[in-house]
Amino acid sequence: MKGILILQALLLISLPPLLTHSGIAAEPSQRAPRSIVLLVRWKPESLVNGSPCLFRIRSSRTLKSLSGRWHGHQVFFDFDVKTRTWYGFAGVGIDTASGQHQLSLEARLANGARISYSHSVTVGKAAYRTIDLSVPGKYTEPDAETLARINQERALKNEVFRQTIKDRLWAGRFVAPVENVITEGFGTQRTFNGVRQSVHQGLDFRADIGTPVLAMNSGTVILARDLFYEGGFVVIDHGNGLLTLYMHLSEINVNEGNPVRKGEIIGSSGATGRVTGPHLHVGVRWQGIYVDPETLLTISIN
Ligand SMILES: [Zn+2]
Repeated sequence: MKGILILQALLLISLPPLLTHSGIAAEPSQRAPRSIVLLVRWKPESLVNGSPCLFRIRSSRTLKSLSGRWHGHQVFFDFDVKTRTWYGFAGVGIDTASGQHQLSLEARLANGARISYSHSVTVGKAAYRTIDLSVPGKYTEPDAETLARINQERALKNEVFRQTIKDRLWAGRFVAPVENVITEGFGTQRTFNGVRQSVHQGLDFRADIGTPVLAMNSGTVILARDLFYEGGFVVIDHGNGLLTLYMHLSEINVNEGNPVRKGEIIGSSGATGRVTGPHLHVGVRWQGIYVDPETLLTISIN
């Protein structure tokens, strides 16, 4: 799949009328129609449930702005002058059914004309691992004090996750937070009597306590503190609605509000929070949807 760019759409439409989502418009009566070609592509080329997704749009005519809707979320597009491409980051939820899904685009031209277009995107089905539990997971009832802490921290996370930096702060390729072996992939489901108990919403790396943890890309630290479940917890907002989360850290080297650069050390791995042993858990979240960090490592602008 590397090196070959598949043109997933070639759209010819007439201007200047306002177009409907079908991309078909009535012929303008006064002026000769001018055509516009939009190329809609994405990475990875084969999308599955749980994929992060980088939409890449090229237009034969200069666009003043471009925005998208995907699964009820806004996709923030920005223009890269070097590649003359509009990039927009999105994610496919793990429970998304395979089949055709619509990316709705709305572009504005320099002359003020608006173009609406809906593009069909194929989503396949991922083969995530399922572990059948022979006994149900043991639930320990937290005491009143712990419960109060958990609820308070849930409210804090909701508040932090509600804010979104629209502009893209990340660039190029994402880097692994540690160079270590992956011990548990994204999407592993634990079932009991055929009923799903939990889904692994990130990636686990084997990491001894004290292993330096790197920012996967540039962004702003929006959370850096110790929480009950996550332990030492850092969340970086990369813009476009995209966050990376780092859990169970023994040490945190950044403060909330700090800008961070790709590859910068943000802390050390550990065994804090609810863990069975030392490891680094990394999550990737797009507007509330958790996607596969391993796939994110293969995505790059340019
Ligand atoms: Zn994990």
